[in-house]
Amino acid sequence: SSSSKASGDVSVMSKQEMQRYDGADFEWSKDVEQHLKDSFHLSKFRPLQLRAINLTLAGRDLFLVMPTGRGKSLCYQLPAVCSKGVTLVITPLLSLMEDQVMFLKSIDVSAVMLNSSSSKEHAKTVLAGLTDPKASFKLLYVTPEKIAKSKLLMSRLEKAYNANLLSRIAVDEVHCCSQWGHDFRPDYKLLGILKRQFPKVPLLGLTATATSSVLKDCEKILCVSQPIVLTASFNRTNLHYEVRIKDSDNEASINDIASTIKNRYKDQSGIVYVFSQKDAESVASELQNRDILAYPYHAHMDPVDKSRVHRKWTAGKIQVVVATVAFGMGIDKSNVRFVIHHTISKSIENYYQESGRAGRDDRPADCIVYYGFSDIFRISTMVVMESVGQQKLLLMVDYCQNVDRCRRSIMAVHFDEVWDNKGCNQMCDVCRNQKDFSTMDITQHARQVVQIIEVASSMDEKLTPLKLVEAWMGKGPAKRRKLIETTTLSRQQVEAVIVYLLVKGYLKEDFSFTPYTTYIYMKLGHKAPLLKSQTHTLSMKMKMKTTESGSAVKAAIAKNKTKEGKRSVQSAGDAPVGQAAKETSAVKAN
Ligand code: ADP
Ligand code: MG
Ligand code: ZN
Repeated sequence: SSSSKASGDVSVMSKQEMQRYDGADFEWSKDVEQHLKDSFHLSKFRPLQLRAINLTLAGRDLFLVMPTGRGKSLCYQLPAVCSKGVTLVITPLLSLMEDQVMFLKSIDVSAVMLNSSSSKEHAKTVLAGLTDPKASFKLLYVTPEKIAKSKLLMSRLEKAYNANLLSRIAVDEVHCCSQWGHDFRPDYKLLGILKRQFPKVPLLGLTATATSSVLKDCEKILCVSQPIVLTASFNRTNLHYEVRIKDSDNEASINDIASTIKNRYKDQSGIVYVFSQKDAESVASELQNRDILAYPYHAHMDPVDKSRVHRKWTAGKIQVVVATVAFGMGIDKSNVRFVIHHTISKSIENYYQESGRAGRDDRPADCIVYYGFSDIFRISTMVVMESVGQQKLLLMVDYCQNVDRCRRSIMAVHFDEVWDNKGCNQMCDVCRNQKDFSTMDITQHARQVVQIIEVASSMDEKLTPLKLVEAWMGKGPAKRRKLIETTTLSRQQVEAVIVYLLVKGYLKEDFSFTPYTTYIYMKLGHKAPLLKSQTHTLSMKMKMKTTESGSAVKAAIAKNKTKEGKRSVQSAGDAPVGQAAKETSAVKAN
């Protein structure tokens, strides 16, 4: 281990030295520039692409961590056409392999693949080509199991190596090596053989998701010593992030989505993500009823229909795909102007991936999530069996309910990124609308909620989230109503406070399983006892004003509905009232 420390010092590259790799004064630079334009038809590099390309052409081992869709493939495809010999690419999925080979053929870059469905003749030609200096292909795509199982392939690669015709090894989705990653694949474990057999060939590992501990693991498994790690920022600067409170009335939330699509995105493509297949069908038809060209997409559709929807949408003949998360892999449409979540995602990572399908052309695009109280518990029952499913979901909920911190800063934490608040540039609703939010002391409210649960439990009653909301708003049974304090907060605020207490650990979910369904009840969390202390206070930031998002309309409707309920803050439009009014002194001057 002392030796690894010594070599660790050697691998550290100074900032200056690193900057040299962003330049264009290498022997291959002209070639690279020319192929970028003439073969790949691209005008310029995206951040880190040129650095990665220069490093791998200089023979360095490299791990490149870059979000999906940013252009990792170019970092081995372009060097491949600038090098003598063949670049070996390991990728896990046949479909991705086929897509890439087809794409390369379309731009006249010759690439071949070997996988379980290759014919004998094809394999023979490919293997012969490996040792032919005049071989017609520059890239060979294989699955990891080919490396693990085909002795013939390995011996041909050996020959190519000895003839200096193996120029580079790219391991795509490199996190699949590690059991600590989220997508471990056993065949990746055996790829260490590559660097052991071909120590002089530079290796390039690529991934969109890998923490430093996963990368360390990959380094060991692949037998690369001290690779340079390049990590691209996960901040998608052209995406505007926004969270809208979802109306519990389905009709109202659909109206809001429909009018947003019609007003803001006329003739522009987008995705609406929904929770279930049933939702995909119903939301699509609701949107169609409102004159929007929207089609459903989900796992249980006929494959022919699925690919038709995908194709038509890619070609711009369908405006919106209303999809479950099954719609993801293989989307390569650059001009997606909006990704709307009709239901929150099950984790921030998922949300980042799904919403990140917007704006891949680097032009402005919107990511809007509709955040509804009951959806939290719908998803909760779905992820209850996943080991950290609940924790991840609550972090997503926190992303939605938090108006205290920039949306981007919350995402950055998830990718271990150091966050500088200037990085948002007013491209999220929190940064943009700071003046609409006020801090409210909710200590008394929290105590009321805790008391309701205590009273219910003393009567041997369990409260579902909905029952808890109703009880607090004075709609529970009379015998209990006599014993508790009810609230004058609006329904939206009641839900916000309860969610806040859940996220912060004052409340927790209690699951009850039957063979047919899972019930969720609310019970006291580990922090609840703190509220017994008179000095313990709690406050949260809330939206006090209504804004553009169409909630102004809803607020107007709500105002009519609750004329007598004049203490409803949301319906009162601009001015906080009641409890909240006392707190306006705490509004941050911003
Ligand atoms: P990743 O593997 O990182 O998910 P891909 O390599 O599949 O991403 O690239 C995604 C898309 O980005 C492709 O359509 C590709 O053509 C495009 N792309 C890559 N580099 C650039 C660039 N420098 N400028 C514009 N588009 C690019
Ligand atoms: Mg890729
Ligand atoms: Zn922000």
